[in-house]
Amino acid sequence: MPEALITPVGTARESIDLLEASYNEICELIASLGCPSYRAGQLFRWAAKGVPIEQMSNLPAELRARLTERGCFVFLPQIRQKLVSRLDGTVKYLFALRDGQLIESVVMKYRHGNTVCVSSQAGCRMGCRFCASTLKGLERNLTASEILGQVLAAQQDLGERIDNIVMMGIGEPLDNYDNVLRFLRLVNSEEGLNIGYRHISLSTCGVVDGIDRLAKENLPITLSISLHNIDTEERKRMMPVTAKWSVEELLDACRRYFAVTGRRISFEYTLIAGENDSAAQADRLAAGLIAGLGRGTPIHVNLIPLNLVTERSYRSSRPDAVLAFQKRLLSRGINATVRRRLGPDINASCGQLRYNEGAEA
Ligand code: SAH
Repeated sequence: MPEALITPVGTARESIDLLEASYNEICELIASLGCPSYRAGQLFRWAAKGVPIEQMSNLPAELRARLTERGCFVFLPQIRQKLVSRLDGTVKYLFALRDGQLIESVVMKYRHGNTVCVSSQAGCRMGCRFCASTLKGLERNLTASEILGQVLAAQQDLGERIDNIVMMGIGEPLDNYDNVLRFLRLVNSEEGLNIGYRHISLSTCGVVDGIDRLAKENLPITLSISLHNIDTEERKRMMPVTAKWSVEELLDACRRYFAVTGRRISFEYTLIAGENDSAAQADRLAAGLIAGLGRGTPIHVNLIPLNLVTERSYRSSRPDAVLAFQKRLLSRGINATVRRRLGPDINASCGQLRYNEGAEA
């Protein structure tokens, strides 16, 4: 895929984003400014919380001015719009980034804690036909700090700790591999938010080389595959990424991922009326998953009724068709659940707030 489509991240080349700097990098910076080393710890703790330089109250004004002169900054995504569900407390944010790009994040409140769904790119170039995030293509990758910033900004706004992270917002995380990996390490680090890898899921439309790279990192995160169809030719119609990697190649990569990490893989399956919800397709899905992954592999299928995207022609399967599909999978030995719809009263599909805002501008 053409790299030129991606605008370089950050702004000026000499700018230093302190939110994604490691402790060692901050030590070097402080030493280069000729300041005593204890300043590094102070600066690091402020930056890791997303506090802007001018508010770092225990640093001398002169040091703050020099940091700014050097091009250092700490920036958190700014809330442009916030929707709160009256039914279940789900919160959806439209955030503006430093260069004005808009992204979305959602906080879902479960009994076992707060989960934030973060975006990994501004826009997306994967082109899935049912998805609003891809309507205007990819604008740019998010930096690690812009992904982390969504977690920090949501935490700050809610005054509550975020316990779990799902990378299921706008963008394809494996199409922004290095920044996503940097984010995962930052958010997991002891000096950072210290969120365990087991509390983090990453969802992909099936970028096979990325899955293989991720397997080599051997992080105990949960991998979710947005499958939506087990038949390569049918899936090509819904998800252009299938032209690059067939379903067979995708399932092979899943098998390798499981062999290395031992982590259960989840499959997302969005049910679209007349497209992928027939009894025959449920049968082929069950048989195909078992054949592709092997009988011993724990498989979980998450069935998701389609969120309507007005710009697209697809319609959601009816609730009885969703249940029939689930029953069919269960009867063939596949563990399948229907995803509860959170925040139905703020039901803007992923990418829609951003799309609509852009369309008005
Ligand atoms: N690019 C990644 C993560 C972002 S999409 C991926 O494809 O997995 C997060 C999930 O929402 C994916 O499973 C995606 O297929 C699904 N999705 C996209 N548009 C949807 C819609 N209109 N209704 C329901 N699910 C949708």
